Amino acid sequence: MPDSPIPAVPPAVRSHPHRDARYDILFEPVAIGPVTARNRFYQVPHCNGLGYRDPAALAVMRGIKAEGGWAVVCTEQVEIHYSSEITPYIELRLWDDRDIPTLARMAEQIHAHGSLAGIELAYNGMNGPNLYSREVPMGPGHLPIATFSPEPTQARRMDKQDIRNLRRWHVDAVRRAQRAGFDLIYVYAAHSLSFLFHFLNRRTNDRSDEYGGSLENRVRLLREVTEDARNAVGDRCAIPIRISVDELQGAAGLHRAEVEDMIGLMADLPDLWDLTLAGWENDSRTSRFTDEGHEEEFIRGFKQLTRKPVVGVGRYTSVDRMVSLVRGGVLDFIGAARPSIADPFLPRKIEEGRFEDIRECIGCNICVSGDFTQSPIRCTQNPTMAEEWRKGWHPERVQPRGSEAPVLIVGAGPAGLEAAHVLGKRGYEVSLAEARTELGGRVALEARLPGLAAWIRVRDYRKGQIDRMGNVQVFLDSPLTADDILAYGASRVVIATGCHWRADGIGRQRSQALPVASGAEVLTPSDILAGALPRGRRVLVWDDDHYYMGGVVAERLAAAGHDTHYVTPASEASTWTRATMEQHFIQARLLRKGVRITAFRSLHAIHDGAVELECIHTGALERVAADAVVLVTARLPNEALALELHARAAEWAAAGLTDVSVIGDALAPATIAHATYAGRRYGEMLDAPAGDPDEIPFQREIIPLTPLTPLRPFPTEPLKAP
Ligand code: ADP
Ligand code: SF4
Repeated sequence: MPDSPIPAVPPAVRSHPHRDARYDILFEPVAIGPVTARNRFYQVPHCNGLGYRDPAALAVMRGIKAEGGWAVVCTEQVEIHYSSEITPYIELRLWDDRDIPTLARMAEQIHAHGSLAGIELAYNGMNGPNLYSREVPMGPGHLPIATFSPEPTQARRMDKQDIRNLRRWHVDAVRRAQRAGFDLIYVYAAHSLSFLFHFLNRRTNDRSDEYGGSLENRVRLLREVTEDARNAVGDRCAIPIRISVDELQGAAGLHRAEVEDMIGLMADLPDLWDLTLAGWENDSRTSRFTDEGHEEEFIRGFKQLTRKPVVGVGRYTSVDRMVSLVRGGVLDFIGAARPSIADPFLPRKIEEGRFEDIRECIGCNICVSGDFTQSPIRCTQNPTMAEEWRKGWHPERVQPRGSEAPVLIVGAGPAGLEAAHVLGKRGYEVSLAEARTELGGRVALEARLPGLAAWIRVRDYRKGQIDRMGNVQVFLDSPLTADDILAYGASRVVIATGCHWRADGIGRQRSQALPVASGAEVLTPSDILAGALPRGRRVLVWDDDHYYMGGVVAERLAAAGHDTHYVTPASEASTWTRATMEQHFIQARLLRKGVRITAFRSLHAIHDGAVELECIHTGALERVAADAVVLVTARLPNEALALELHARAAEWAAAGLTDVSVIGDALAPATIAHATYAGRRYGEMLDAPAGDPDEIPFQREIIPLTPLTPLRPFPTEPLKAP
């Protein structure tokens, strides 16, 4: 295996010609043990749903982060041994030497742009149900598997031989990581996801031997594993420890005072401290529940306990805030997962003084849902995420235009804006017509709902880009008709007219319209987004959508003083938000705001002053008082314009029109991430060389076939009764 060279580090910070000298501090090289990062921008380990299934896509994605200026680029968690794996989640694996080339290729991609490659070695222990390997999971004690679902499996208590084995496996993985070319090899003890976290934590460690009980004993294994790693790598690689400073469970869980004492015991043992909150849902909270820098209060003060550099996260995109964190002695490195996903070129843009080009993370956690759905990571703000290798999309570079064809885009929501943005950058003459007097479509409206203000960044980034393009003309207050479009003279028309919420109750639960009594007050989220509120005091919100809208509408109504009753056929409020790690926070907020929550109920009928609910299990009906109902069910595309244009296809030639495409919610309503992706896709593909239309439009990894020979020959004797 080739040893990848340690990247050269600039001898001193030279101010970039366009950079404000105030920000020079962010571009100072910082030593991490035996290696040196070229600046203070540090992409901390983050999952992505690609892992061992899509290693080429993953390697290229990490390489692009390095190209964008992150001085350290890390993997996600990497399973070190088959006896602890977290199927169905798809991470990387370093189970034996055969996994080294996959990891080496990623390290090479990172090194190619002068960055340091970090690897987070993970043994999940009682967090890994071992559904693939079928090994018995191990942990400090006999406890149920503590993953994101209540797996009916327990971990067994590790004995001394298990601990010796585990230390050896960890050293083997450290050596393999070094052979793969990594510069930073993590000891992972954070997030409730690592056996070391479980040993540190008195909640999960009830041992009575030298690995349990006192703090010194609970820290013992972390210390041993770190010393093992150090001895294994010599002075070629840095050994960071990733630890959680609090799990927000008060004295019952791992908490600050205890972690301060732990770090006191090992202050200078690692080469860097990577500080997080536990669990992951606390660490990566959405903007609906926390602002930028929400971890600062937890992390502040830890740097003073060690002479080693410290990295921490907080969805940082404000450059002044970054500078104050460094100057104020809170952090040495600005850690980022989500800001580096939304904008892999964030450091380069800061370095070059291109602040208006920064694509700020909106804190929606659609990226996290990739891990929870075992699918390639998606990002609302950055539709090229995970498509770099698969589709050849680059977050900052586009193909030159393929023709002189002028393009008319109808609708300036996330889909229309992103299409205009990409086509504008490609050099097309673009007209963007919007019916309303502001840009943004649904995000302009949804960002006014409680907790969603940061989502306006989807519009603001694209508006900022388009405003500076001479070849993109924006027409506000311009509701176009088919006649307008045919008279306009564009040869390509993109219909991005969005969608509206259904008012008939049809959705997942019902395929027939709801019976509604005359006089009953029925609204939809479209009405609430338009600024309407129910007249009645007692309002029932029926959520058959299950993402954020039902919960947000209930919150809005409660804030407006309505007696709000949230009803769902699911077992909990906004159940899909488990994939964005928000469900618990949403349910808690609704309850705290006085919203009554009823689960497992379908809406059977709406009367005047009451509704009938139906138990989804027994079919039992119950009558509940409600002066008004908000139906959060399904949506319908605003497709009338597209249908009319297609019906008038005979007139296209005379109008110079060759193509009408429908994108985003106007084609099929979905998330904002789907809409920006749809806009990007149109923009990337316009005038692309026509291939075979039946060909798969992306690259995929094909696993080479392994001989069908079983591990040992099948027995020849049939099973016989004794
Ligand atoms: P998407 O998520 O697919 O981008 P949105 O609903 O966010 O969809 O945005 C659609 C935008 O299209 C809205 O701002 C809406 O005002 C605009 N729109 C709808 N019909 C027309 C039309 N006929 N002419 C111009 N703009 C339109
Ligand atoms: Fe940020 Fe949302 Fe993109 Fe994740 S998906 S990086 S939270 S904008």
